Amino acid sequence: MKKYFLPLVMLTIFETIAVSLWLTQNNIFYLFNFSYIGISISLGVFLYIKKYKHARRVAQLLVGLYMLVYLGLICNENMQIEGFWYYLFTGTFEAATIHYAVAKIFGPLVFGRGWCGYACWTAMVLDFLPYKVPEAPRKKIGWIRYLTFAISLIFVSALFLAHVGNMEKIMFWAFITGNVMYYSAGIILAFVFKDNRAFCKYICPVTIFLKPMSYFSMLRITCDKSKCVSCGKCKKVCPMEVDVTDNSRNRKNGTECILCFECVKNCPKNAL
Ligand code: SF4
Ligand code: SF4
Ligand code: SF4
Repeated sequence: MKKYFLPLVMLTIFETIAVSLWLTQNNIFYLFNFSYIGISISLGVFLYIKKYKHARRVAQLLVGLYMLVYLGLICNENMQIEGFWYYLFTGTFEAATIHYAVAKIFGPLVFGRGWCGYACWTAMVLDFLPYKVPEAPRKKIGWIRYLTFAISLIFVSALFLAHVGNMEKIMFWAFITGNVMYYSAGIILAFVFKDNRAFCKYICPVTIFLKPMSYFSMLRITCDKSKCVSCGKCKKVCPMEVDVTDNSRNRKNGTECILCFECVKNCPKNAL
């Protein structure tokens, strides 16, 4: 039973959010929405425990497709960062504001960048590309994420300041255009830098929230130094180049761990 602790914890966290939002917002949609996400993520973790090779991808596709196709395209909710600014400026605590609060701002204090490993619809596609582990050294262009973050904020602020009408429609088309741009940039960068996750490392504006919050994450991979033989396998298989043998919070690329467990699976000494 002990080995099912993590999926049960994940399910409990999401069910607590589902029931709390359902009752406080008086909207049963939240019960279905967060229950579905919680079940999908717990299923992914459960399958991982059962040693199913594609466990993480199952959760990623279940959640990513639900958010992109159902919430985004069918329900016309802009779940990207522009949607977050939009709902924030209108003072509405729903859709993207709740999504950001749970998955990208406060949630990472508990489950780090689990969103990036198990749910993001951009990475859902990028993870199909051939460079699962970077084949070239990391570039010093991480500053671009501040630019994309500022552009998204300026774009939505300008719409409000100009009192543009039909904002709902504009946000829907911003969602479509934004995703086309993200996927195009992500795929091109993956091939140019020989790294599926190059977009996550250099461009994604959401990391401005994710990185500082995941620094304090309760859930993190740690290394039992008494078992480690410094073989370096964990670093070779890490898509985010995290120095996982260093247990300090300041470890190299520590705020980029997506909890994919590749290092854990490949450690010959079960030290992680
Ligand atoms: S860094 Fe951005 S694009 Fe990459 S997985 Fe996280 S949220 Fe998605
Ligand atoms: S793979 Fe395991 S034994 Fe090898 S360096 Fe990493 S933690 Fe240590
Ligand atoms: S391989 Fe390990 S350290 Fe690297 S991202 Fe995955 S879980 Fe984190």
